[in-house]
Amino acid sequence: DDLSRKIESKIDKKLIFKSKRGGLKDGFKKGKVINEVLDKPTVMTLYKMITDHIISYVNGAISAGKESVVFWGVENNDVNVALKIYLVSTSNFKKREPYILGDPRFSHIKKGTKNLVHLWARKEFRNLTQCYEAGIPVPRPLHLTKNVLVMEFIGQGGAPAKSLLTSEVDEGDYFQAISIIKDLYHKAKLVHGDYSEYNIFKTDSGLVVFDLGSGVDLRHPNAQEFLKRDINNITKFFHKRGVSVEDPDELFEEIIK
Ligand code: ADP
Ligand code: MN
Repeated sequence: DDLSRKIESKIDKKLIFKSKRGGLKDGFKKGKVINEVLDKPTVMTLYKMITDHIISYVNGAISAGKESVVFWGVENNDVNVALKIYLVSTSNFKKREPYILGDPRFSHIKKGTKNLVHLWARKEFRNLTQCYEAGIPVPRPLHLTKNVLVMEFIGQGGAPAKSLLTSEVDEGDYFQAISIIKDLYHKAKLVHGDYSEYNIFKTDSGLVVFDLGSGVDLRHPNAQEFLKRDINNITKFFHKRGVSVEDPDELFEEIIK
């Protein structure tokens, strides 16, 4: 109707992408982002975050995954932030359930709960907070509204830092990657659940781990199984890159003992 059209045009103006830098991905133009990728409630949430002065504007798309999109946003003081938006429409509840059910921090959630999307965003925010407070290098969590998570931007000039996958790696990176798994376990009391070369940035000041939505509490019944998988994944990656690695089973035993 007329009112919602008015609101939408207002939103479009407010959310205008102010810069051509940052390179929108192919086929991921601004109109498409606003009109097709994000649903109306999410656009309203972004709009509210702007009128509440949490962010000043959204500057461009960084990544479009199946379940979430990441935008480069800017705060009122011109500081860059990353906005991770969990998509309501495409979210795969069945795939997420195993990472929520069994986590005592979310024990009130019933099996078969329909809208896990806000919960998933809350879970990632909580995991980031636990890590940040434990001194583990993660993007600093800044704000959460519904399915939109705002965190420190890792990278420069709106371009995200390279992941391990696209970086040159050495033994020092391997040691850091392993020490992060250990600190996650012993200090943050978490298992990442999706630990891989895709979810670790390599920056000038060291590795930074992110994408913590799958992270589970150590008391989760599958925590050790997830830990084993995390160790195997990262070990395989460094082995393939010619770094000499510790036996993953021994490493697992060493961590849980
Ligand atoms: P998913 O893998 O679920 O799509 P990620 O959390 O891994 O979501 O983020 C996807 C991509 O978005 C990352 O590979 C990275 O390029 C970018 N990104 C995520 N978080 C940040 C951040 N804090 N700063 C800069 N870029 C980010
Ligand atoms: Mn990821």
